[in-house]
Amino acid sequence: MSRRSTRPRVLGWAAGALRGQDVFFEILDILHRGMRLRCPCCGHGRLFKSALRTYDRCQACDERFEREPGQSFGAVYVNLGLSGLLTLTAYLMTTTLFSLTMPQQRSILIPVAVLGPCLCFRLARGLWTSIIFLGEGLYLPWPNR
Ligand SMILES: [Zn+2]
Repeated sequence: MSRRSTRPRVLGWAAGALRGQDVFFEILDILHRGMRLRCPCCGHGRLFKSALRTYDRCQACDERFEREPGQSFGAVYVNLGLSGLLTLTAYLMTTTLFSLTMPQQRSILIPVAVLGPCLCFRLARGLWTSIIFLGEGLYLPWPNR
């Protein structure tokens, strides 16, 4: 039997049931579930069924991961930010920790900048799913553990 409810979820913090500190840690927990590539709602179901494809619904709680076609496009922006952060970190490390020449730095930074979006794809998708869940995933009683 599905645990899915048709009544809209009412966020506890929106109703004033949770304190600000509880809301902060709950948001961190939901983002952490996305970073672990798990369902942001329950934290148990896997997000990806293969390297690049996600499940439509959570295997554990039946929460839908993508509510509208194209909704996952926002993960591109998260991926862009993560890749930029990775490249900036590589740049700062090569300039401050090692005394590399400019061609040596380029030989490190260009592969990092090119491979970064590929390496960050799943993490960005998981984070974006959590962000979408925080903004719109209001269909089950919350918190749902
Ligand atoms: Zn779930």
